[in-house]
Amino acid sequence: MKDRKTQVENIIRLLHAEYPNSKCSLDFSNPFELLVGTILSAQSTDKRVNIVLPSLLAAFPDANAMANGTIEDIKEHIKSVGLYNNKTKQLKNMSQMIVDDFSEVVPDKMKHLVKLPGVGRKTANVVLGNAFGVPDSGITVDTHVIRMTQRMGLTTNNNAVKIEKDLMKIVPQVEWVDFTHLFIDHGRKICVKKPKCEECILISNCDQLY
Ligand code: SF4
Repeated sequence: MKDRKTQVENIIRLLHAEYPNSKCSLDFSNPFELLVGTILSAQSTDKRVNIVLPSLLAAFPDANAMANGTIEDIKEHIKSVGLYNNKTKQLKNMSQMIVDDFSEVVPDKMKHLVKLPGVGRKTANVVLGNAFGVPDSGITVDTHVIRMTQRMGLTTNNNAVKIEKDLMKIVPQVEWVDFTHLFIDHGRKICVKKPKCEECILISNCDQLY
């Protein structure tokens, strides 16, 4: 475990140096906006979501407005995003629960966020870490984090929740939010489907298991 901790500290240090401006790539100015953006980003790209967010949030700027919107009106704003039928229902139902159960305010606890329709640990971690700045919320495990941590030998699991638990044991808590952004940046650029190991700054800290 000590070696894995040292390995992960080296990886984080190198990635911070390589991607000094690494951050959440969804546009948002409050927790509700990030919650909406994160729900929309499933099976889509952050770039695509950032295109539809301005008009959607202009029409439905908060949970109350979204809960009172019609399915047809919400759908009209997001139909260029994948799975828009399901996501329309999730946005409306999620907003209704925020209105009914949380006094119209996005909750800032994991146990409350995961009760919202369409919100699992991954979405909750994104919102807690980036909109609320809660450092102990957990680690967002997306497809890049899964692929890279398996290749690096940081986990032997395939399940995202189990991988998150493995990572929480070895990643310093202060890095839990940045960790995901750094891995997404490196996963998009170098540790892609066919990894570019010969160009990779992490090669001496990676088990290259693929
Ligand atoms: S050395 Fe290869 S497998 Fe390891 S992180 Fe870099 S690109 Fe990915």
